[in-house]
Amino acid sequence: MSQYLNARYQTLEVYTPGEQPQDQVYTKLNTNESPYPASPRVVASIGKKELEDLRLYSDPDLKPLVAKLAEVYGLSPAQVFVSNGSDDILNFAFMAFSGQPGRAAFPDITYGFYQVFADLHQVTPTVIPLREDFSVDYRQYLNLDQMIVLANPNAQVGRALPLREMEEIIASNPDHVVVVDEAYVDFGAESCVPLIAKYPNLLVVQTFSKSRSMAGARLGFALGNAELIADLNRIKYSTNPYNVNRLTMAAGVAALEDQAYYDENCKKIMSTRAWTVDAMEKLGFTVFPSLANFVLAGHPAMDGEAIYRELKRRGILVRHFSTPRIQNYNRITIGSPAQMALLVDTLREILGGETS
Ligand SMILES: *Cc1c(COP(=O)(O)O)cnc(C)c1O
Repeated sequence: MSQYLNARYQTLEVYTPGEQPQDQVYTKLNTNESPYPASPRVVASIGKKELEDLRLYSDPDLKPLVAKLAEVYGLSPAQVFVSNGSDDILNFAFMAFSGQPGRAAFPDITYGFYQVFADLHQVTPTVIPLREDFSVDYRQYLNLDQMIVLANPNAQVGRALPLREMEEIIASNPDHVVVVDEAYVDFGAESCVPLIAKYPNLLVVQTFSKSRSMAGARLGFALGNAELIADLNRIKYSTNPYNVNRLTMAAGVAALEDQAYYDENCKKIMSTRAWTVDAMEKLGFTVFPSLANFVLAGHPAMDGEAIYRELKRRGILVRHFSTPRIQNYNRITIGSPAQMALLVDTLREILGGETS
């Protein structure tokens, strides 16, 4: 750290991304990427012309992409915001909506970035513990009178709240924004998008990174009341108006034109998820019910960190968190059927060939 860094950033605990080691080829089940490639239309969307046109700035309003998203989600373009990954949007949401002095409520076990953004923007967090079974108790989010940030399905665990409970939370907090992070919604949970017409304080955030196989393109979007979207644009136009590049915009439009391809992939991932849960339970694992493209799982006979290490030694990466409440578990991305079969075989070997 230099002597020049502003004092308020000196104590920041930065976000730790999932590891991307380059020392060998791993079966990557640690960052919730899709095992399936971007759609053929996405691949075809970028050719010589698009590459040559990189000399031009991108369209800061991202009009074709915003129009397409509005069409897909049944909203008007004024209700759609697009940015460089949903992390970018969550950052803007903390800047824009946490109040002054800033406050924001979120669960103890959730996406780690919420705490980082709270620190970054000097927002006082209200951290609400998940229940013993790692579910969100929605009643604890009623009438909180501050910004609320909920991943639904929740990160790290995969459990989701039903729409009617989400609606109660949103309805009980009319003076503050409720940010619903739907990074994993396409894998089986109920989306809050239908509530947008009814609640001006609802901001739904989604991403192309998980269900649309575009993590490396960095593309996220938010859906909500037109005034909320205008607020987000205010922040974007005060930081980096060209923050989505031309190639990513072209790819994003092409992805939305091939929804059937992604729907099919999501279906495959959901069925692989069911297979994986069943096979792991047969090995004695506790697996939390998940509506996301990952499962959180632990074994009574072996420490979570040891399982992580043994898998890594055998070329399989999963995500281990040292957070006390979940340190005995690993978060495992649902990959292809072959990857999950390899995982289960490897776990069986690690556990000493035991089966039930
Ligand atoms: C992966 C993830 C994100 C980040 O998505 P990007 O669009 O890649 O920035 C946001 N929220 C949650 C809960 C995630 O799991």
